[in-house]
Amino acid sequence: MSTPYADAAPVSQELFARGREVTPGGVNSPVRAFRAVGGTPRFMASGRGPYITDVDGREYLDLVCSWGPMVLGHAHPSVVQAIQDAATRGFSFGTPGEGEVLLAEEIVGRVDAVQQVRLVSSGTEATMSAIRLARGFTGRSKVVKFAGCYHGHVDSLLAAAGSGIATFALPDTPGVTGAQAHETIVLPYNDLAAVEAAFAAHGDDIAAVITEAAAANMGVVAPQPGFNEALARIAQAHGALFVIDEVMTGFRVARGGWLELEAREDPSWRPDLVTFGKVMGGGLPAAAFGGRADVMAHLAPAGPVYQAGTLAGNPVAAACGLATLAQCTPDVYTHLDATAATVGRLVSEALAAEGVVHTLATAGNLFSVFFTGTLPKDYDEARTQESWRYAAFFHAMLDRGVYLPPSAFEAWFVSASHDDAALDRLVAALPAAARAAASAHPDVAKEFV
Ligand SMILES: *Cc1c(COP(=O)(O)O)cnc(C)c1O
Repeated sequence: MSTPYADAAPVSQELFARGREVTPGGVNSPVRAFRAVGGTPRFMASGRGPYITDVDGREYLDLVCSWGPMVLGHAHPSVVQAIQDAATRGFSFGTPGEGEVLLAEEIVGRVDAVQQVRLVSSGTEATMSAIRLARGFTGRSKVVKFAGCYHGHVDSLLAAAGSGIATFALPDTPGVTGAQAHETIVLPYNDLAAVEAAFAAHGDDIAAVITEAAAANMGVVAPQPGFNEALARIAQAHGALFVIDEVMTGFRVARGGWLELEAREDPSWRPDLVTFGKVMGGGLPAAAFGGRADVMAHLAPAGPVYQAGTLAGNPVAAACGLATLAQCTPDVYTHLDATAATVGRLVSEALAAEGVVHTLATAGNLFSVFFTGTLPKDYDEARTQESWRYAAFFHAMLDRGVYLPPSAFEAWFVSASHDDAALDRLVAALPAAARAAASAHPDVAKEFV
């Protein structure tokens, strides 16, 4: 049977077939497989500025930007130069080096809440290590997280089942034990009463509350005003640590990340620990966690909580991250804000013109489109959207040279290189894609989702 999303991407198809022989599902990270939208994933061969080119030679305007890291666009000349210079000097020594000190200084200089930082290689490692440190520091075992918030594939943080007050989660995936999930308390996002209740019931056992600085892995769901601040106060009043996950928001929504946006409104509170990734590596594997110096002092070798990494602070990755952050000037943030707002407005206008029920969700310059008429405040509400419309919208855009996230539950990303010519390509693609969303049918998409 031919699929409604016929693919004319023969080289990608061939690579995908070969990939499936040697790699589960043919991909190295599940969302890349297009399962939520159907069709064959495009295998990318190169990128420059806001454009990426696949192995069939087709060019796309990129609104994924590697899920955030490519904040300057692809193959930015000064970043390429920094990587080449670093590589020429050698790739890895298993010793300390200057680049990692410079990168740590850059992070500490940008984020007030971070006095010390430890470099790791992925956002998952950052959150996993932050949770271990919080447990080691407090001597407590339980962690509060919010349904729909993603913190990497850390065992205890994959548990997202159950959204009732102080529900002890069931494992979300085979391979995570009940014991690990049992230590995780999953609460509805933006629900402070649930947080108060969880602390009333289990306050002495809770090591940490972890939340995305602004939730952007269930589509974009902004924290309600005062939510993060209240989490800090409640956690800290009970002797638990407050961990803000800025892996996605850090160095993207502002120079100092989401915390800078919050501090502009209310500078009176701070998290205890913060996690970073994505932009800080500029597209190479680099991530970090940091925060209060007295908490970080519990990490080995300064303290007893063990944490390590053969490639942590890798000199080439550090050079890439540093060169990227060096270019992230106030002008860049102004451009990202304006471009994100323009893309969001253009998409919303095109959908409205075809009568497609939707809402544009924003959190700083992060944004996504929900195919529902009301702005979701938590995961349950986010999941009510007509995500089958997104599959049709996505493929119509892809056919017209615009690469969107292959899921309705992901944020969209722009870069400093997204200019007027890039937006012209978006404008040209939108009307037909909006018509495709309008005429989409749930039964057609069902076979994919
Ligand atoms: C991407 C992401 C992670 C995981 O980072 P990886 O580098 O993919 O392990 C963690 N937290 C948030 C908020 C993220 O967006």
